[in-house]
Order: sequence, then C-alpha cells, then structure tokens
Amino acid sequence: MHIKILGSAAGGGFPQWNCGCRNCSGLRSGTLNAAARTQTQLAFSPDGQVWFLLGASPDLRSQIVATPQLMPSPGESCSSPIGGVFLTSAEVDSVMGLLHLREFQTFFIFATSAIQRVLKSENRIFDVLHRADPPVQWQTLSPGARLACRFGEDPSAPPTFICAPVALGGDYPDFVGAELRRSLPSQDAVLALRFEQAGKSFCFAPSLPENSGEGLKVAASSNIAFLDGTFWSDDELMQTGRSHKTARKMGHLPLSGRDGLLAQFPSGSECRKILVHINNTNPILDENSDEHRVTRDAGFEIAYDGTEFTL
Ligand SMILES: [Zn+2]
Repeated sequence: MHIKILGSAAGGGFPQWNCGCRNCSGLRSGTLNAAARTQTQLAFSPDGQVWFLLGASPDLRSQIVATPQLMPSPGESCSSPIGGVFLTSAEVDSVMGLLHLREFQTFFIFATSAIQRVLKSENRIFDVLHRADPPVQWQTLSPGARLACRFGEDPSAPPTFICAPVALGGDYPDFVGAELRRSLPSQDAVLALRFEQAGKSFCFAPSLPENSGEGLKVAASSNIAFLDGTFWSDDELMQTGRSHKTARKMGHLPLSGRDGLLAQFPSGSECRKILVHINNTNPILDENSDEHRVTRDAGFEIAYDGTEFTL
C-alpha cells in the first residue's frame, strides 16, 4: 500500500486566512519555526495505480493538481487515477472537496447511510456529482462490518484490500437540521477507517471524540495510525476568543492532560503514530515549543504535507 499525506491542518489550514494568532502571525512574518499546511487530506493506493482519497478537503483541487500520482493520463478525458473517496464524517472539512470532483467523472463514494442522507437530502448542491455518466456510485460503510474491495470483475477473487470502519461516537455537524439529526443513529456520525492488505494495515482517524477507546485499540494494532491532532488543550479555542466550546465539545480529544490522546493511547504499541488535522492554534506547530518536544518525546510524529509511506 502506498499512502501520501496531501494536507495535515485542521479546518482553515495553516495559516488561516482571517487568523492573527501567535502561530499564524509568526508563520506569515517568518519568525516561527513551522511549516505551512493545507487542510487534512490523505490518499492511498493498494497497487500504485488506482488511488483512493480519504476525506475530501476544502483544498482538494490544489492538492490533486500538486500530486503527480493523481494526474490523469495525457490525451484522455476523464481518466483520473482516483477511484473513490472514503468519508469519515459529514464535517465541512471532510466533504467540501467533493464539489471539486464534479467535472463529469464517475467514482465511488464510501460513507455511512447517515452521512449519505445528510449529503443527499439536506444539501442538494452535492447533486452536481450525479452529472457524470455513469453517475457517482455511493457505497455504504457500516461500522463493525468489514468491506472487501476487489479490482476486476471476478467476485470470487480475493479482495484487493479491506476497509474496516469503527464507530467513534461523536456528533453530527451543526449544519444538520434538528429533525434529520433525531432520525440518524449516533454510530454513523464519526468513523475511524482501517485499511488492510497482505497483513499490513493503517488507520485514519482525523476526529477522535471523547470515549474513542475502541478506535484507539484498533489504531494501536495497525502499522501506521493517522490520528486527531487538532488541539493541544481543551480550552485552546476559548483562549483565542474564537469559540466558547471546548475541544471535547467540538468532538476532538485534546493531546495534553491526563485524559488526553498522548496519555490515553495504548502503551506498548509498535504502531507509528502520526498526528494530522492540526489546528492553526496548536502550539505543537511551533517546532521550538515545549509542546512540540513533549509530543515527539511521547512517540508521536507531527504530519507534514507531502510525506509518503509504503507498507
Ligand atoms: Zn491562527
């Protein structure tokens, strides 16, 4: 399996267009030891030819254009190597990029039934995906059910890879209407996705709500885990005056503290732990900060855009 990090920041990217926080200002002025990052987006390929997107970030168009592996064959229209998109939630950060893929290209979208309902029934703008002929094909992810994905027509052939979705609890985004929200099962709201091929696996969990214990166990048993690195502390956005919500209230376990991700991740795991979805306010972005050092000392890597992995 080939995996590439196309983006590693949380919503808004780093720097964020309207943010004058210490990190964003320092990056703009060149006084902060940090790298700019686009919004979180991964791509993986089971065979080095067909690629799947994990999430669909608001920066997706520029991320695809900057990635040689995702370029179409010369001389052929609608010949993208992108075969599909796996969605972990209906958050704007995770789905907005679908609108960049509306150029009459057919592909698969893998999402829970509830996320499909959110996108199809309340957000008709996503109907633009159905202009392709044949139209985009929706495939259902069910938490706890392993989905075998095969290339080729033979249904008896061994799967090319397996996707195992894990329910993390958590909430639906604020934009989902109250009536629809009441009818949606909580286990369909936020997923961790584990991809397996030939005895190797990686896990993608850009949002880890509180009580994601089951998801952390699955992540810890993978070769690589891409984990929620949104906030360092629970009151991070409250301190900037940008929000009255804690990190936990926003569906993100903070990194620090006795109950934070660094302390809670199962110990003794040989899993390579890589933080993605890092908010521009997070002090770990400053490579001279104590928080950056503490995170690295705890055995966690901090993702950069463009890094590639082979399993
Ligand atoms: Zn900022």
